[in-house]
Amino acid sequence: MTQPTTETRSFQAHTKKLLDLMIHSIYSQKDVFLRELISNASDAIDKVRFEALTNPDLATDGKIKLVPDAAARTLTIVDNGVGMTYDEVIEHIGTIAKSGSEAYAEKLKELGKEAATPDLIGQFGVGFYSAFIVADEVTLETCKAGEAEGVRWHSRGDGEYTIGHMPAGPHGTRVTLHLRALAAADEDATPDFDGDFTETWTLRKIVKKYSDFIAYPIVLDVEKHEVERDAEGKVVPDGKTTTTVVEETINSQKALWTRAPADVTPEEHNEFYKHLTHDWTSPQQTLHFHVEGTQEFTALLYVPEKAPQDLYAREQKRGLQLYIKRVFIGADVKELIPEYFRFMRGLVDSSDLPLNVSREVVQQDAVVARIKRTVTTKLINFFKDLLAKDRPAYEKLWTEYGQAIKEAFHYDPAVKDKIADLLLVKTTQGDGWATLAEVVDRMKEGQEALYYLTGEKFDVLREAPQLEVFARKGVEVILLGDAVDEIVVGTLEKYRDKELKSAARGELDGLPETPEDKAKQEENAGKYEALLAKLKTLLADDLADVRLSTRLTDSAACLVAEEGGMSPQMERIFAQMGQAVPEQKRVLELNPEHAVTDAMRQLAERPGTDDRLKDFGEMLVDQALIAEGSPLKHPARFARRVTETMARAAAGA
Ligand code: ADP
Repeated sequence: MTQPTTETRSFQAHTKKLLDLMIHSIYSQKDVFLRELISNASDAIDKVRFEALTNPDLATDGKIKLVPDAAARTLTIVDNGVGMTYDEVIEHIGTIAKSGSEAYAEKLKELGKEAATPDLIGQFGVGFYSAFIVADEVTLETCKAGEAEGVRWHSRGDGEYTIGHMPAGPHGTRVTLHLRALAAADEDATPDFDGDFTETWTLRKIVKKYSDFIAYPIVLDVEKHEVERDAEGKVVPDGKTTTTVVEETINSQKALWTRAPADVTPEEHNEFYKHLTHDWTSPQQTLHFHVEGTQEFTALLYVPEKAPQDLYAREQKRGLQLYIKRVFIGADVKELIPEYFRFMRGLVDSSDLPLNVSREVVQQDAVVARIKRTVTTKLINFFKDLLAKDRPAYEKLWTEYGQAIKEAFHYDPAVKDKIADLLLVKTTQGDGWATLAEVVDRMKEGQEALYYLTGEKFDVLREAPQLEVFARKGVEVILLGDAVDEIVVGTLEKYRDKELKSAARGELDGLPETPEDKAKQEENAGKYEALLAKLKTLLADDLADVRLSTRLTDSAACLVAEEGGMSPQMERIFAQMGQAVPEQKRVLELNPEHAVTDAMRQLAERPGTDDRLKDFGEMLVDQALIAEGSPLKHPARFARRVTETMARAAAGA
């Protein structure tokens, strides 16, 4: 065997910064370090037991042992899990959750140092490093099954670590914490100082609190003192006391999800969720149910407090844990839950699948597909109930995950009507959220369709000129600001028999109209005929049509899509996806009541063609683009024309 060598490596700069913050900012819940390390140990045992399904040599009764040593002031956590190779230690332990730590440091910069709470750190997954909350030195020794050598890693959390080989032993990992001096911990003067982590009663208390449900025994060596007894079992006065050491299991190991849902307390769910997800914040919602009959499974599902940063990234980990009759089969099984509910965390434990199921089987398995369907239906009903019973809680959930839920319209149009009931939207009425049912219920007398406007930003949407007539008539318009909204309205088409119509597309109809409105429209049609005809010819390269608007009251002009045409928002989505979109010519609508329109009419009625007519027409198009938040084709030209016009107006004044 080669002589073991040790190399010293540096943490990346941001890792070091993060460690400093961890050590100095978490005082109130020091004991969570144990939960994190036990969780890692339990995951490692899950993994080796899974491998044992195909490699019986690895068959393991998992066990996690806590070894406190008061004299040396150390606490060691030993597992017989899968262990790590040299490279895995560098990858998993030498770098704090890679991207996570950078995101964390960024967030801290933004929020200030006071924000460095366990909750915040937890969102970025720095589990193993929580050891440094209580330890000034950490040694990790690990051996992967089948490897010729073990690995020893050591760090003082000060910017460097050493790593080297050691002789191989049985597979598993030992993490030894050299605990900080008690006095130093006391100095933090936290009211709930967690005690001495080398005392067995402290460890028992923490394990009970955080890790009771861990499926493997968590054991401690305890001394049993036995006084000497005579043959009749009576204590011998001044007899000898014998002391034996026995291994005692300190957790109940009861898989939480197998219990009756009503018997599990919210606190137990919170701790279980934290173990399951490595999140440090409790979930905002919990759904736990058993299904019996043609299919048999249990699901335990959680809605995390916050969406992960990468919820919309393609490579985001998603899916639920899969257990078969309480044996862990795999994490992140995405076949168990639809894409649009990918923010859910949790597990499914099935009684119908064979234990030797492989990834490939899971992908095509009919049982798995049925579980997914049932989970989907249960979740939809759960959300619907929540919306009805606890509106603030539902709004919070929607704010965090609504954008993902709306993807159902793309991935699963079959459920579109059910998802439509779950939608919350902003509208031109008030700042709060509304359901589509609420918008329908308060529709105006004589209003036939539900109107919406899509765009990129709410603030811009709210002021869009296309909304003027709706404001005048008191008709509510739904404002849709997410990229996915175009797909929502395109797929949904109708809600409760009311057609969904874009406020910025086609001719406006379906709005309440008075006979006076009608008469006025006819009069204007005659009055502006010449102007419209000339502008149509002059601007034919850029526009599909020029017509009078029934939408506008204050603005001079706006652009609308032709009926069936693509909105600018949709064009942007296609462009982002890298798909070429044929240029969509739009319709310029002029406000017949606006002074500019009337002035242009007079220009148009002069014999010949005045050059200014084309200029003014193009300026109207440009300012309509600006008003809706779209880019201009020739911004400099527009700026020049505006200043020229201003100069002329000022000189004439
Ligand atoms: P997280 O567990 O949230 O991914 P950690 O910092 O706690 O982050 O752990 C990083 C990785 O190190 C784990 O995902 C796992 O691959 C590995 N690891 C940590 N502890 C152990 C252990 N006891 N046995 C095997 N692998 C471990």
